[in-house]
Amino acid sequence: MAEVVATNETIVVVGGGISGMTAALEAAECGKDVVLIEKNPSLGGRVAQLYKYFPKLCRPTCGQEINQRRLKVNPRIKVLTMAEVEAVSGQAGDYSITVNQSPRFVNEKCTACGACSSAVTSEIANPFDYNLSKTKAAYLPFDMAYPQQYVIDPSIVGTEEGEKAKAACSVGAIDLEMEAETINLKAGAIIWATGWKPYDAGNIQPYGYDRFLNVVTSVEFERMMDPKGPTAGKLVRPSDGAEAKSIAFIQCAGSRDRNHLTHCSRICCMATLKQTTYLTEQFGEQSEAEATIYYIDIRAIDRFEEFYNRVQEDEKVSFVKSKVAYIAEDKASGNPILHGVDTEGYNRYAAEHDLVVLAIGMEPSVDINALTSEISTDASGFIQLDEENGAFFGAGCSTNPLDVNRAVQSATAAALRAIQVVNQISRAEAA
Ligand SMILES: Cc1cc2nc3c(=O)[nH]c(=O)nc-3n(C[C@H](O)[C@H](O)[C@H](O)COP(=O)(O)OP(=O)(O)OC[C@H]3O[C@@H](n4cnc5c(N)ncnc54)[C@H](O)[C@@H]3O)c2cc1C
Repeated sequence: MAEVVATNETIVVVGGGISGMTAALEAAECGKDVVLIEKNPSLGGRVAQLYKYFPKLCRPTCGQEINQRRLKVNPRIKVLTMAEVEAVSGQAGDYSITVNQSPRFVNEKCTACGACSSAVTSEIANPFDYNLSKTKAAYLPFDMAYPQQYVIDPSIVGTEEGEKAKAACSVGAIDLEMEAETINLKAGAIIWATGWKPYDAGNIQPYGYDRFLNVVTSVEFERMMDPKGPTAGKLVRPSDGAEAKSIAFIQCAGSRDRNHLTHCSRICCMATLKQTTYLTEQFGEQSEAEATIYYIDIRAIDRFEEFYNRVQEDEKVSFVKSKVAYIAEDKASGNPILHGVDTEGYNRYAAEHDLVVLAIGMEPSVDINALTSEISTDASGFIQLDEENGAFFGAGCSTNPLDVNRAVQSATAAALRAIQVVNQISRAEAA
């Protein structure tokens, strides 16, 4: 069993994205003991998968680097990766948590030299690229992964490939006998920062995501722009590798729709406005590349309004006020053809583009009601702030679809609430 000491003065944070990392760091830097539980092999969450951040359009790596540095020097935080909470019971100040940890087959001696990866030929679908690319079955999740430790995929354990990886490791970091573990933890407060997942685009039948190669989601588009992503940063069509110079962005793909997610995912408008800037970046200002945004209404709040205004001034970006009815495909070219009615001019259109990007909705990544029915959520499953929840606090996108700035604020607030709970316990025990 992994050595984890946790008492009812410990704060357990579930989810190691930007919100979970923030909550863990804020609590630990205030002197509290924290266990941070992440289901993936690395911390970072979905922000690590973005190409650039709005509104500044910088790479997410700088924020990650700062948090990772804070983590490394803080002995109060114990990080468990490849770990998921199976059960939670108890009440504020006295929770019991059962965690299942999958084997990484690589221990802490790993120096991330990559020799194991070079030694194997087997490949697996790469979840970091939303399965648009493949990675070796001995892999580092991504360049800035934390911890900097490779992972051996279970598919090669017990095979010749697994043995090749082991033989290539000069520091004895590969342990093919590693087993799954159950870890029982105590906690005074729990911060639930499990974030969001993209709505399943295949459910939106009329948009043909499962049928047409040149219909992708906004999260896939982020990976396509990344030089380390599935297309090495080239904006090309999945069907034929041709440059995608006429791109349609469809807003509210799965959101604000009673057949799918009824809530507004809030971030999609800003994400699309940001993604239109990727075209100019890729093809240059003089190119004929153009973006068309099909929208119901654009929701860009407070300081983001300025970003929206800037994009509106770009002559290469046009806005069509319309909920696209359906997408067909031109069989010869593979071009998606969007059908609908422009609600400003009441004109029907059949608009052909090289590529369609669905601004996909965001939903809670975990159905918290399936884990414990005592937590108050809204109709979409996002965790509410409610006294009835005891010391179980939502943080970041587990509470709402939020941008990074707001997710961090929400995580800091959750850390403060959790600190108040464990402080009361310490005082009661000292009295
Ligand atoms: C297309 C798109 C583009 C975006 N671009 C921007 C942008 O440019 N700027 C911006 O500010 N925001 C942007 N966002 C929003 C941004 O992605 C979120 O603000 C951010 O991901 C919130 O972080 P989080 O930690 O709350 O959630 P997440 O990033 O989802 O992290 C949650 C973490 O919890 C882990 N987890 C999940 N379930 C479990 C479990 N059961 N046990 C343990 N761990 C678990 C996950 O593996 C993950 O590491 C964009 C969103 C979309 C859809």
